[in-house]
Amino acid sequence: MEKTKCRLCDLEQKTKWFYEDELFIICNCMTCQCKMIVLKRHDTKLTLEESNRLLKLLIKFAENRRVSFVRRTIPNHWHMHIKNGR
Ligand SMILES: [Zn+2]
Ligand SMILES: [Zn+2]
Repeated sequence: MEKTKCRLCDLEQKTKWFYEDELFIICNCMTCQCKMIVLKRHDTKLTLEESNRLLKLLIKFAENRRVSFVRRTIPNHWHMHIKNGR
C-alpha cells in the first residue's frame, strides 16, 4: 500500500503557531508567509460546529483582511489563507 503523506495532517511546528484548539490550527503558511487556518481533520468540508468556530476565529484573526479559499497546493485538506494587507 502506498503511503500518502499530507503536509497539513502532518503539520509540525516549523512555523509560528498563533492559535490551536481541538478543531483548528492557525499558523504561518510555509510557502507564502500568510496566516493560514488549517482544519485538524483531513477533509474538504467543514461541519456545522467547525463553521461556527471558524466564524469566531475570523473575527479574531482576520478582522478586515481578505481571505482566500483557494487551495492550489493541497486541494484535499481544508485550509484557508488570511492575506496580508487589505
Ligand atoms: Zn490532510
Ligand atoms: Zn500559503
